[in-house]
Amino acid sequence: MAKLRFQALNEASNRESIKIVEDLKRSKLFGENVFNENTMRQYLTKDAFKGVMSAIYDGTKIDRKIADQVASSMKEWALSKGVTHYTHWFQPLTGATAEKHDAFFETIGNGMAIEKFGGSQLVQQEPDASSFPSGGIRNTFEARGYTAWDPTSPAFIYGTTLSIPTIFVAYTGEALDNKTPLLRALQAVDNSATAVCKYFDKNVKKVTSSLGWEQEYFLIDQALAESRPDIMLTGRTLLGHSPAKGQQLDDHYFGSIPSRALNFMRDLETECMLLGIPVKTRHNEVAPNQFELAPIYEEANLAVDHNSLLMDLMGKVAARHHFKVLFHEKPFAGVNGSGKHNNWSLSTDTGINLLGPGKTPMSNLQFLTFFINTIKAVSENEELLRAVIASASNDHRLGANEAPPAIISVFIGEQLTKVLDELENVTSGKLSPQEKTDLKLNVVGKIPDVLLDNTDRNRTSPFAFTGNKFEFRAVGSTANCAKPMKVLNTIVAKQLKEFKIEVDKLIDTKDLKKDEAIFNVLREYIKESKKILFEGNGYGDEWGKEAEKRGLSNNKTTPEALKAKVSEKSIALFEEMKVMSKTETIARYEVEMEEYMMRIQIEGRVLGDIAGNHIVPTAVRYQNLLIKNVTGLKEIFGNDFEKYAAEQIQLIKRISEHIEGIHVKVEKMINARKKANKIENFEAMAEAYCFNVKPFFDEIRYHCDKLELMIDDELWPLTKYRELLFTR
Ligand code: ADP
Ligand code: MG
Repeated sequence: MAKLRFQALNEASNRESIKIVEDLKRSKLFGENVFNENTMRQYLTKDAFKGVMSAIYDGTKIDRKIADQVASSMKEWALSKGVTHYTHWFQPLTGATAEKHDAFFETIGNGMAIEKFGGSQLVQQEPDASSFPSGGIRNTFEARGYTAWDPTSPAFIYGTTLSIPTIFVAYTGEALDNKTPLLRALQAVDNSATAVCKYFDKNVKKVTSSLGWEQEYFLIDQALAESRPDIMLTGRTLLGHSPAKGQQLDDHYFGSIPSRALNFMRDLETECMLLGIPVKTRHNEVAPNQFELAPIYEEANLAVDHNSLLMDLMGKVAARHHFKVLFHEKPFAGVNGSGKHNNWSLSTDTGINLLGPGKTPMSNLQFLTFFINTIKAVSENEELLRAVIASASNDHRLGANEAPPAIISVFIGEQLTKVLDELENVTSGKLSPQEKTDLKLNVVGKIPDVLLDNTDRNRTSPFAFTGNKFEFRAVGSTANCAKPMKVLNTIVAKQLKEFKIEVDKLIDTKDLKKDEAIFNVLREYIKESKKILFEGNGYGDEWGKEAEKRGLSNNKTTPEALKAKVSEKSIALFEEMKVMSKTETIARYEVEMEEYMMRIQIEGRVLGDIAGNHIVPTAVRYQNLLIKNVTGLKEIFGNDFEKYAAEQIQLIKRISEHIEGIHVKVEKMINARKKANKIENFEAMAEAYCFNVKPFFDEIRYHCDKLELMIDDELWPLTKYRELLFTR
């Protein structure tokens, strides 16, 4: 049966095979192509299994003998499924995934060959990956980088290739990828959170960070998408007049899913099941042809890998259905953009969600501890959190009318606001027995009831508490979740570390009881974090003004926002928590600034080309038709012709004006680009692109979109919004 399913996967264009796969219960398919715990139990020796498990759960090192055994079993399992190649699968700083396939096949002389895969191939590889961005790490140190097996994320089979999740690091030890710092951040939050948990339960040995992402995307007919050079080269439309009908009627949101899209989703979900990605939810989003997909949450590192894998998979499955998936945060002006909410929580190895209220006052005090520390962490590091979601594409979404603004704030709901208000009034120092009882009964004891009716969810908040998790909503749909997860876990780790120091100090020096000390510290945190709490409408203009008064940052563009990544404070934070060295932090900043600059550069070139080679010639052609028409009318009506040609003459004039407009603005944009390209400093260059080049985009677009409305539909060279958005 396994073989059959596997064949079906490889011949997915074959309808009958798909049917076989689909006829099986999804739970039966789940993880079929993953070398997971269950498979390992079957294939590994007892020692090897124990070795891998303790690497996953306790972070121990896997020795060479065990690695050899694991490799040999992995190969056996993979070959039984028709696999021919293996690859180390990693996430370089491009944000995408990378792979380089090698065959198991090996010649052994005398015209003979075998399938070979040993511990050394499993554990470490040296791809010649020198073209990935490294932010100067490899220039200043050494050219080589290597990939190393991450046993915490299981190997999987896609097609006929065994993929082994790996980290990607330079020989000098610097991380060249997104995964390595994430793993370090997860370790940091485990250390700090476990130490804090011991106040409440001595048995807690490990705290795990969980992530449940929600992926939004557009699904566009492939042929139509490919007819647009801007979509193909930049992932978004650089021009296009909004259609007569957009999303005004809200008739797409949660509507019945069009059958062609549904077929794509079913096919995608089957593939996800085989790969162990626990996808659960699918629905239409707000904009036409926009959809969302969400899995059941998982351990953060695995969830990040699964999101990266999914994005890759979506492109492939979409092609089979003649669709193109657009992940861009704002592919179409005037309709909603796409995000990727990151639902985040922490849980213990004793099975407690630290962000979920419990049943007893003590467990609720634990909840409040983690809840308030998270708020404090966000409050102290709001600018860094804004920086981590910055990208050329997310700039179009943040602050635009349907997405969280570029200001980070936390929404907690009315009920929890009341709880914090009460805690804020806790007496300083020792508490009277009466106060303790009051707190127990009326504040800490009441939380579960309170949360049940905490239904009001503020969709405009970039960071909201939603019952048993925080939801980081400002993350963009193209993002690699490793980045926001790295920052969030690091700032919370640092915060919890400080909390522990402060509580211990009160216990030791002020002779306070443990819970008294905790109440005292939390009280101060609530006061200090007030500025970040906001329950109102994040889209309103008033919020911008209010946020400014509160001293919150409002960095509207990527070059401005990214600076917070390399502030002294951020560098020190990542160093202290052992997440990134100063070199690693600065390297990422350079890579992202450069990426920003290049994306704007490409958009500028594409827009210049389309305006010059598509729009202007079409406008001229149509104008010539009009001129011919006017000349003809003159022949027929003589001096009276103006009476009959007034409209046409007006149009001819207006077309000329817009052609002139395009010409002038494109010229100016090109000059601004030339000037920017001469700048040597990468920061100044990114800023020049942001403030001197990009502003011309809207101006050029304005003229093009006006022409779209004037020119004969038959002549218009670009597929229009109405076709892109409403073809199903
Ligand atoms: P929404 O209303 O925003 O769509 P859902 O309640 O459907 O939110 O959940 C969205 C995501 O949050 C899902 O991926 C879900 O698995 C995840 N999630 C639920 N509980 C937790 C938790 N404790 N920690 C992390 N993610 C969670
Ligand atoms: Mg959500």
